[in-house]
Amino acid sequence: MGGTFDPIHHGHLVAASEVASVFKLDEVIFVPTGEPWQKAKNKVSAAEHRYLMTVIATAANPQFTVSRVDIDRPGPTFTIDTLRDLREMRPDAELFFITGADALAQIMSWKDSDELWELAHFVGVTRPGHVLDDMGRSDVSLLEVPAMAISSTDCRQRVGAQNPVWYLVPDGVVQYIAKYGLYMDPATDHDAGT
Ligand code: ATP
Ligand code: MG
Repeated sequence: MGGTFDPIHHGHLVAASEVASVFKLDEVIFVPTGEPWQKAKNKVSAAEHRYLMTVIATAANPQFTVSRVDIDRPGPTFTIDTLRDLREMRPDAELFFITGADALAQIMSWKDSDELWELAHFVGVTRPGHVLDDMGRSDVSLLEVPAMAISSTDCRQRVGAQNPVWYLVPDGVVQYIAKYGLYMDPATDHDAGT
Protein backbone atom coordinates (compact mmCIF):
# COMPACT_ATOMS: atom_id res chain seq x y z
CA MET A 1 0.00 0.00 0.00
CA GLY A 2 1.60 3.21 -1.17
CA GLY A 3 0.81 6.63 0.19
CA THR A 4 2.17 9.94 1.30
CA PHE A 5 1.13 9.05 4.87
CA ASP A 6 1.41 12.70 5.97
CA PRO A 7 0.24 11.56 8.50
CA ILE A 8 -0.89 7.91 8.36
CA HIS A 9 -4.45 7.60 9.75
CA HIS A 10 -7.06 4.97 10.57
CA GLY A 11 -8.52 5.10 7.04
CA HIS A 12 -5.23 3.68 5.71
CA LEU A 13 -5.01 1.08 8.46
CA VAL A 14 -8.57 -0.19 8.18
CA ALA A 15 -8.25 -0.47 4.39
CA ALA A 16 -5.02 -2.46 4.70
CA SER A 17 -6.42 -4.74 7.39
CA GLU A 18 -9.61 -5.43 5.46
CA VAL A 19 -7.84 -6.19 2.16
CA ALA A 20 -5.35 -8.44 3.99
CA SER A 21 -8.21 -10.38 5.49
CA VAL A 22 -10.39 -10.71 2.38
CA PHE A 23 -7.50 -11.54 0.02
CA LYS A 24 -5.70 -13.69 2.62
CA LEU A 25 -2.48 -11.73 2.27
CA ASP A 26 0.60 -12.81 4.23
CA GLU A 27 1.82 -9.28 4.69
CA VAL A 28 0.95 -5.68 3.95
CA ILE A 29 3.94 -3.51 3.09
CA PHE A 30 3.30 0.20 3.62
CA VAL A 31 5.42 2.23 1.23
CA PRO A 32 5.68 5.93 2.06
CA THR A 33 6.34 7.93 -1.11
CA GLY A 34 9.52 9.88 -1.69
CA GLU A 35 8.66 13.11 -3.46
CA PRO A 36 5.10 12.48 -4.59
CA TRP A 37 5.05 13.98 -8.10
CA GLN A 38 1.32 14.75 -7.86
CA LYS A 39 1.98 16.79 -4.74
CA ALA A 40 5.24 18.50 -5.77
CA LYS A 41 3.76 21.98 -5.53
CA ASN A 42 2.62 21.39 -2.01
CA LYS A 43 4.69 21.13 1.07
CA VAL A 44 5.01 17.54 2.19
CA SER A 45 6.63 16.62 5.51
CA ALA A 46 10.14 15.20 5.51
CA ALA A 47 10.22 11.60 4.32
CA GLU A 48 11.82 10.49 7.60
CA HIS A 49 8.89 11.88 9.62
CA ARG A 50 6.36 10.17 7.34
CA TYR A 51 8.34 6.93 7.46
CA LEU A 52 8.61 6.93 11.25
CA MET A 53 4.91 7.74 11.76
CA THR A 54 4.11 4.78 9.48
CA VAL A 55 6.39 2.54 11.52
CA ILE A 56 4.79 3.69 14.78
CA ALA A 57 1.26 3.14 13.41
CA THR A 58 1.98 -0.37 12.14
CA ALA A 59 4.45 -1.64 14.75
CA ALA A 60 1.95 -3.67 16.78
CA ASN A 61 0.60 -5.65 13.80
CA PRO A 62 2.80 -8.64 12.89
CA GLN A 63 1.35 -8.62 9.34
CA PHE A 64 2.27 -4.99 8.68
CA THR A 65 5.72 -3.82 7.60
CA VAL A 66 7.09 -0.58 6.16
CA SER A 67 9.42 -0.30 3.17
CA ARG A 68 11.90 2.49 2.46
CA VAL A 69 12.16 1.76 -1.30
CA ASP A 70 10.42 4.96 -2.34
CA ILE A 71 11.99 7.31 0.17
CA ASP A 72 15.49 5.99 -0.54
CA ARG A 73 15.11 6.29 -4.34
CA PRO A 74 16.11 9.77 -5.53
CA GLY A 75 13.62 11.85 -7.49
CA PRO A 76 9.84 11.78 -7.66
CA THR A 77 7.98 8.56 -6.82
CA PHE A 78 6.22 6.63 -9.57
CA THR A 79 4.19 3.56 -8.67
CA ILE A 80 5.78 1.58 -11.50
CA ASP A 81 9.20 1.96 -9.80
CA THR A 82 7.72 0.94 -6.44
CA LEU A 83 6.32 -2.24 -7.95
CA ARG A 84 9.51 -3.06 -9.86
CA ASP A 85 11.56 -2.69 -6.66
CA LEU A 86 9.17 -4.83 -4.62
CA ARG A 87 9.10 -7.45 -7.35
CA GLU A 88 12.91 -7.58 -7.22
CA MET A 89 12.90 -7.92 -3.44
CA ARG A 90 10.16 -10.57 -3.45
CA PRO A 91 10.56 -12.41 -6.77
CA ASP A 92 8.26 -15.24 -5.70
CA ALA A 93 5.51 -13.17 -4.11
CA GLU A 94 2.17 -12.45 -5.67
CA LEU A 95 1.85 -8.68 -5.36
CA PHE A 96 -1.31 -6.73 -4.67
CA PHE A 97 -1.46 -2.95 -4.75
CA ILE A 98 -4.02 -1.50 -2.36
CA THR A 99 -5.45 1.85 -3.28
CA GLY A 100 -8.38 4.06 -2.31
CA ALA A 101 -11.08 5.02 -4.79
CA ASP A 102 -9.54 8.45 -5.47
CA ALA A 103 -6.04 7.14 -6.11
CA LEU A 104 -7.37 4.28 -8.25
CA ALA A 105 -9.13 6.76 -10.53
CA GLN A 106 -5.83 8.61 -10.95
CA ILE A 107 -3.90 5.45 -11.76
CA MET A 108 -6.46 4.45 -14.37
CA SER A 109 -6.01 7.82 -16.04
CA TRP A 110 -2.28 7.31 -16.65
CA LYS A 111 -1.48 6.80 -20.29
CA ASP A 112 1.25 4.16 -20.22
CA SER A 113 0.33 2.10 -17.18
CA ASP A 114 0.22 -1.25 -19.01
CA GLU A 115 3.19 -2.70 -17.14
CA LEU A 116 1.51 -1.78 -13.85
CA TRP A 117 -1.22 -4.36 -14.32
CA GLU A 118 1.36 -7.08 -15.00
CA LEU A 119 3.34 -6.35 -11.86
CA ALA A 120 0.48 -6.41 -9.38
CA HIS A 121 -3.17 -7.10 -8.89
CA PHE A 122 -4.85 -3.82 -7.98
CA VAL A 123 -7.41 -3.67 -5.20
CA GLY A 124 -9.49 -0.52 -5.07
CA VAL A 125 -11.24 0.19 -1.78
CA THR A 126 -14.19 2.43 -1.03
CA ARG A 127 -13.52 5.85 0.42
CA PRO A 128 -16.21 8.27 1.58
CA GLY A 129 -16.72 11.08 -0.93
CA HIS A 130 -15.23 9.19 -3.87
CA VAL A 131 -16.75 6.91 -6.50
CA LEU A 132 -15.15 3.48 -6.77
CA ASP A 133 -14.98 2.38 -10.41
CA ASP A 134 -12.85 -0.33 -12.07
CA MET A 135 -13.65 1.07 -15.53
CA GLY A 136 -14.29 -2.47 -16.70
CA ARG A 137 -10.81 -3.81 -15.96
CA SER A 138 -10.89 -7.45 -14.91
CA ASP A 139 -7.45 -7.21 -13.27
CA VAL A 140 -8.75 -4.73 -10.70
CA SER A 141 -10.77 -5.88 -7.69
CA LEU A 142 -13.11 -3.59 -5.82
CA LEU A 143 -13.75 -3.98 -2.12
CA GLU A 144 -16.04 -2.20 0.28
CA VAL A 145 -14.21 -1.42 3.51
CA PRO A 146 -15.57 0.18 6.71
CA ALA A 147 -16.14 3.84 5.86
CA MET A 148 -13.63 6.18 7.46
CA ALA A 149 -14.18 9.81 6.52
CA ILE A 150 -10.60 10.70 7.38
CA SER A 151 -7.94 12.32 5.21
CA SER A 152 -4.38 13.37 5.97
CA THR A 153 -5.24 16.82 4.66
CA ASP A 154 -7.97 17.15 7.28
CA CYS A 155 -5.64 15.84 10.00
CA ARG A 156 -3.00 18.45 9.08
CA GLN A 157 -5.57 21.23 9.04
CA ARG A 158 -6.89 20.12 12.41
CA VAL A 159 -3.43 20.23 13.97
CA GLY A 160 -2.84 23.67 12.42
CA ALA A 161 -6.12 24.91 13.89
CA GLN A 162 -5.34 23.29 17.25
CA ASN A 163 -8.23 20.88 16.90
CA PRO A 164 -7.83 17.26 18.04
CA VAL A 165 -6.70 14.37 15.86
CA TRP A 166 -7.15 11.81 18.64
CA TYR A 167 -8.89 8.67 17.32
CA LEU A 168 -8.34 9.76 13.70
CA VAL A 169 -4.70 8.67 13.84
CA PRO A 170 -3.11 6.12 16.21
CA ASP A 171 -2.17 7.46 19.66
CA GLY A 172 1.56 7.15 18.98
CA VAL A 173 1.14 9.28 15.86
CA VAL A 174 -0.73 11.99 17.82
CA GLN A 175 2.23 12.08 20.19
CA TYR A 176 4.81 12.04 17.39
CA ILE A 177 3.11 15.01 15.69
CA ALA A 178 3.18 16.96 18.95
CA LYS A 179 6.76 15.98 19.75
CA TYR A 180 8.09 17.40 16.45
CA GLY A 181 5.54 20.19 16.08
CA LEU A 182 4.39 18.92 12.69
CA TYR A 183 1.59 20.75 10.82
CA MET A 184 1.62 23.65 13.27
CA ASP A 185 1.91 26.29 10.56
CA PRO A 186 -1.21 26.06 8.37
CA ALA A 187 0.32 28.58 5.91
CA THR A 188 2.72 25.91 4.67
CA ASP A 189 -0.06 23.48 3.76
CA HIS A 190 -1.77 24.15 0.49
CA ASP A 191 -4.37 21.43 0.79
CA ALA A 192 -2.44 18.66 -0.96
CA GLY A 193 -5.50 16.40 -1.11
CA THR A 194 -4.52 13.72 -3.62
P1 ATP B 1 -3.94 13.59 1.54
O1 ATP B 1 -5.19 14.25 2.03
O2 ATP B 1 -2.66 14.25 1.96
O3 ATP B 1 -3.96 13.27 0.07
P2 ATP B 1 -4.86 10.93 2.16
O4 ATP B 1 -5.72 10.85 3.35
O5 ATP B 1 -5.55 10.92 0.81
O6 ATP B 1 -3.89 12.17 2.30
P3 ATP B 1 -2.75 9.35 1.06
O7 ATP B 1 -1.45 9.11 1.72
O8 ATP B 1 -2.83 10.34 -0.05
O9 ATP B 1 -3.81 9.77 2.22
O10 ATP B 1 -3.42 7.98 0.59
C1 ATP B 1 -2.74 6.77 0.46
C2 ATP B 1 -3.73 5.73 -0.04
O11 ATP B 1 -4.74 5.47 0.96
C3 ATP B 1 -4.50 6.17 -1.29
O12 ATP B 1 -4.69 5.02 -2.10
C4 ATP B 1 -5.82 6.64 -0.73
O13 ATP B 1 -6.86 6.54 -1.67
C5 ATP B 1 -6.03 5.67 0.43
N1 ATP B 1 -6.86 6.24 1.49
C6 ATP B 1 -6.58 7.35 2.20
N2 ATP B 1 -7.54 7.60 3.11
C7 ATP B 1 -8.47 6.63 2.97
C8 ATP B 1 -9.73 6.36 3.62
N3 ATP B 1 -10.20 7.17 4.59
N4 ATP B 1 -10.43 5.27 3.21
C9 ATP B 1 -9.95 4.48 2.22
N5 ATP B 1 -8.77 4.68 1.57
C10 ATP B 1 -8.04 5.74 1.92
MG1 MG C 1 -4.52 11.44 -0.86
